[in-house]
Amino acid sequence: MTANLIGGEWTGAANDRWTERRNPADTREVVASAPDSAAEDARSAVGAVAAGYHEWARTSPERRAEVLDTAATVLERDPEKLATELVAEEGKTLAEALGEVRRTPANLRFYAGEALRLTGRTYPAAGGLVYSARQPVGVVAAITPWNFPLNIPSRKLGPALAAGNGVVFKPSEVTPVLARRLVEALLEAGLPAGAIALVHGGGEVGAALAADDRVGAVTFTGSTTVGGRIHATVGPSRRTQLEMGGKNPVVVLEDADLDRAADIVVRGAFGLSGQACTGTSRVIAHDAVHDELLDRVVRRAERLRVGNGLSEGVQMGPLATREQYDKVREYVRIGIAEGARLHTGGEPPEGTDVRHGHFVRPAVFSGVTPGSRLAQEEVFGPVLGFLRVGSFDEAVRVADGTSYGLSAGIVTPDLARALAFAERVESGLVKVNQPTTGMAMNAPFGGVKDSSTQTSKEQAGEQMTHFYTIDKTVYLTPEAR
Ligand code: NAD
Repeated sequence: MTANLIGGEWTGAANDRWTERRNPADTREVVASAPDSAAEDARSAVGAVAAGYHEWARTSPERRAEVLDTAATVLERDPEKLATELVAEEGKTLAEALGEVRRTPANLRFYAGEALRLTGRTYPAAGGLVYSARQPVGVVAAITPWNFPLNIPSRKLGPALAAGNGVVFKPSEVTPVLARRLVEALLEAGLPAGAIALVHGGGEVGAALAADDRVGAVTFTGSTTVGGRIHATVGPSRRTQLEMGGKNPVVVLEDADLDRAADIVVRGAFGLSGQACTGTSRVIAHDAVHDELLDRVVRRAERLRVGNGLSEGVQMGPLATREQYDKVREYVRIGIAEGARLHTGGEPPEGTDVRHGHFVRPAVFSGVTPGSRLAQEEVFGPVLGFLRVGSFDEAVRVADGTSYGLSAGIVTPDLARALAFAERVESGLVKVNQPTTGMAMNAPFGGVKDSSTQTSKEQAGEQMTHFYTIDKTVYLTPEAR
């Protein structure tokens, strides 16, 4: 059971409605029950943080850094336990969950450092001083998805709190337990309860937060559709940071090492069950290597062990929800109907241990055409499409031929063409000879086009903390003049 945190009290929703979260690997198991909050809970949370965050805003940078650092230590106390909860709630494999559990405290420590590095500037001025100072925005709403329920919120709560803001945290309705763990760690570390609220629930809560004028900044990670709605709601005087969907390509040129290329494609496409915003969903292969690469990718996909993320040797867990499962199956049908050829996967695996979960075997299509739905729309699951091209220029054109621009990869030993690709491709992130997934925690992260507003990249230190602060310019002279 988890609860909302409003004004320092753990409570249910005002309407006393609750929802159950079930284990996606075995839906007979209830993992949590959480408040199914409504707009009025969102408004109460904003009211509580607007009234209560000032104590935190006045706290010294040293203290803010200490709280974030201690919260990191709390989260590091029992990584196995946290990772096991994450597997049961979201469906990752244990190895993937441990990766997220380790990254989250590291993020908090990174932002603890940022609390100490917030600076203003001074400007030359005759007979006085002009300086700019950084102040917190006030109330920040953080609206997050389910696929990284610790890592993504820590990249929002960390910098927002480092800068002295109060935060209303609206996690995905799919992952209430992990959201609670993050908030509990911050409270145990000494964050004043007035500086944070946690509101569980669905789109109604998120929409109410975005619409509330007392919220100075909305940081959102999720689908492009929902991001668009938030952007339309928040007017010009408040700010939004939107990190959204992707349709990430890997270009494989004719000089690539095909075993390495196949490993890179399979890791990027089927890691996290294909449920990563940066996951590979298109392989754009040069005609000279297309068939051989396809064969290697199909063989690797067929060998992947699909099952409960806690079971020994499992390499791909379930899809997180029934909706995800239905969506993936639907896109497999769409691909077939569009005339693409399904080589493997797309159906539930066999076996009694997977009968009660949202499992789908990794799917590989060839003959996908650039304008088809399978090539254009984000599936957010283990469905990979091969597109055949005849030249480097065509590969770049096809890579750019969607509305998204999050992560794009190229596999080639030819550094000149790799650099040309990095310069030309319309993508916020470019990976050369690496999977499209997996990012450094100290480098700017975010997309272009429909993948991001580019308001302020996440993970980007100084650049990122600008989103969470207001610049104020002060003119000062010793005497009135
Ligand atoms: P989603 O857009 O359905 O939901 C995200 C959050 O928004 C949830 O907390 C949800 O309750 C809330 N929400 C829903 N309707 C809302 C509304 N009208 N107003 C305000 N909030 C609302 O996304 P999801 O299914 O949780 O996550 C998957 C999506 O997230 C994919 O599109 C994926 O690419 C994207 N994603 C992007 C990144 C990135 O960094 N670019 C990272 C992870 C996931």
